[in-house]
Amino acid sequence: MTTGRLIKAAVLREPGHPLTIEELVLAPPGPGEVEIRIAASGICHSDVSYFNGAWEGVRPAVYGHEGAGVVAAVGPGVTEMRPEQALVTLVRACGTCFFCDHEQPALCDTSFPLDAPGPLTTKDGEPVVHGFRTATFAERVVVHESQVVPIPDELPYDCASLLACGVLTGFGAVAKTARVEAGAHIVVIGPEASG
Ligand SMILES: [Zn+2]
Ligand SMILES: [Zn+2]
Repeated sequence: MTTGRLIKAAVLREPGHPLTIEELVLAPPGPGEVEIRIAASGICHSDVSYFNGAWEGVRPAVYGHEGAGVVAAVGPGVTEMRPEQALVTLVRACGTCFFCDHEQPALCDTSFPLDAPGPLTTKDGEPVVHGFRTATFAERVVVHESQVVPIPDELPYDCASLLACGVLTGFGAVAKTARVEAGAHIVVIGPEASG
């Protein structure tokens, strides 16, 4: 019944338990969408917050939002992507909702066509949450073309994946939250991850 592609993904079924590697069905890219073969994915504290139950979420779900890989296929209307183009994936944001308007695009609360139904299901047809509208803990993802940023072919994927969240978050903390200007002398005091 389902016409998608079988892929392996790391699925969250129960917080506090290990992710399970499962075969899921990934729908083909629709209009304006891109299918990406993931080469590397970072893991972010936001992912961990779902894994350990600190953040509520619908399950089963595939998380991960720092993906690097190459274009495997494109949907109708996508003209800017060439096959095998190297890229990173970003979380999706509309640019106009309350959160986007207040410089918090990661919290964007607009509903998009890929949200329901999402591109992931189990082999029995059960919906699987497309975590962060990205779901990079998988062999492939389908995302909107606005979520992909081309990168140089020579950039190693494991390094490039960090550009999708960790580097942006760090840069934002320095340039926007702390408002440190270029050339300023600063001291960084005892950063420690919580949780
Ligand atoms: Zn993140
Ligand atoms: Zn928004």
